[in-house]
Amino acid sequence: MGWETGWWNDLKEGGRMSDMFSKKSLAVGVDIGGTHIKLGLINEQGEVIDHYSVNLLRDETKIADIALISQEVANFIEKRNVRNQLAGVGVACPGILDTTLGVVKFAVNLGWNELPLVEMMQERLKLPVRLECDATAGAIGEWRYGAGMDQSGFLYVCLGTGVGASLVVDHHIYHGDLGPAINIGHTSVIPDGKPCKCGNRGCLEKYVSASAITDRVRMELDTANTILSKWVQSRALDSLLVYEAAQQGDLYSKEVFQEAGELLGVSLVNCLQLFGVGNIIIGGGFSQSGDLLLEATRKTVRARFPSDDVMKVNIKQASFPTTAGMLGAAANIFQ
Ligand SMILES: [Zn+2]
Repeated sequence: MGWETGWWNDLKEGGRMSDMFSKKSLAVGVDIGGTHIKLGLINEQGEVIDHYSVNLLRDETKIADIALISQEVANFIEKRNVRNQLAGVGVACPGILDTTLGVVKFAVNLGWNELPLVEMMQERLKLPVRLECDATAGAIGEWRYGAGMDQSGFLYVCLGTGVGASLVVDHHIYHGDLGPAINIGHTSVIPDGKPCKCGNRGCLEKYVSASAITDRVRMELDTANTILSKWVQSRALDSLLVYEAAQQGDLYSKEVFQEAGELLGVSLVNCLQLFGVGNIIIGGGFSQSGDLLLEATRKTVRARFPSDDVMKVNIKQASFPTTAGMLGAAANIFQ
């Protein structure tokens, strides 16, 4: 319902002007990442009224500090003077969660174990708080406002520090009984590949993420024929530098992205075989490498998916590569 319609309805029902300003028409979306936190003030239409990003706050033992994070959210709300218009605070978080109880059961990158996040934040903020898995929040953000709008089903893959995914089937988010589902970042694409902290080897996220690209290039820099050998004398090596080199025609850097894209394709073919969902949305910060990565992904899927239906497979970039989690966390509040 728009503002104009709301006015008339309220007047008809005997509402007062002051009621209009007490409507809970906004939510705060909080996306807790491994290195920083994004906060957004968002309305029901998914418009970001204001946003803010801050480094992840950790205590002296390097554990992400929920008290400091809550304080940051409180400051964000008070400075904008919107408390009376807030329906609540949606939080997207990595790791294994019990979203019903509002508990982070285990988040290795944050150092959290059985953390009652919702209870702690509600106590500090005095507002309803809802917790969601980061990849699921990203899928909801794209579903409500972006590349997944009006779709009954799609696979959302988030390429960030790691690799997450979420599946929308028949207008519902798929949840597993045992906890995290569609955890493709820790499915193996190379049986004897790099060891992963999860205990498996050759996990997808060891090859297709910003940190994976940087690690690979760092290891090969001494022997590879690349402009990066010269560039790193004056600039820090990261995946953006490799991207820039590839854009300027550096063959080695192009190959690094291409090989990562191929492995993503291998993983997506497995997903196609398992779920039969042809709409695939690729999000997360690293997805902004675009066709440099995804052309190889599409080519691999076409070559490896043995069905005429391969022509119906649509792999596209997300509408909100860096903010879908924040948007989806806020959208949860309006449901
Ligand atoms: Zn793993």
